[in-house]
Amino acid sequence: MTQLKLLVIVPHPDDEVFGSGGTILEVLARDEPCGLVTLTLGDAGRNLGLCESRAELAELRRHELQTCLTTLGLWEQAGSWHQQHTFPDGEISAHLSEVTGVVREAFTRCQPEIVLTFPPDGLNGHPDHVATHQAVKAVWDALPPRTRPRLWYYALQAELLGTVLPGYLPPNRIHDVSLFITKKLRAMGCHRSQGITLANTLRRFPERVTHEPFHEVTA
Ligand SMILES: [Zn+2]
Repeated sequence: MTQLKLLVIVPHPDDEVFGSGGTILEVLARDEPCGLVTLTLGDAGRNLGLCESRAELAELRRHELQTCLTTLGLWEQAGSWHQQHTFPDGEISAHLSEVTGVVREAFTRCQPEIVLTFPPDGLNGHPDHVATHQAVKAVWDALPPRTRPRLWYYALQAELLGTVLPGYLPPNRIHDVSLFITKKLRAMGCHRSQGITLANTLRRFPERVTHEPFHEVTA
């Protein structure tokens, strides 16, 4: 298994592209490998009347994510990969030890240079985002300091959020991804069933489309 430049660990299909689609495109454009772990099928999300059951939504979102990753060009970079898990959407915290095992296995197998996930407050307080953070941080903390990958969190400026949650961390690095804007927007649009989330993201955080903010853990 090739050593990864970037390993993204998120709970839901769409988390990868809204927050870091441009950064993934940047890594792939340098022909460096990128891994993505998606922990749930996102079947507790909105379905906008596009399907009638959670099982149908799961299949739809699985397909949307594959289309998104094709658009990003993940499969064209030889060492890159996607791993899909089926932990219950909305209930990851009830499976924290298994999730932590998945994260530990990914760390060990691909020795990433950078790991990207959610911050302690989950960015928006979503329990799956918070639980994903807890799993990644536990694995990272357990490594000898010299062997730890760089750890990045999704981050948003406090003035854009309005109110901040306990555990909030401000951005300390901003990636200008405007070079990749066309492909990123096309990839975001692949998550059709999440059209309301997409609209809300564009309305509340339009800056994030061209400038992706992250918090890099420095301690
Ligand atoms: Zn999410």
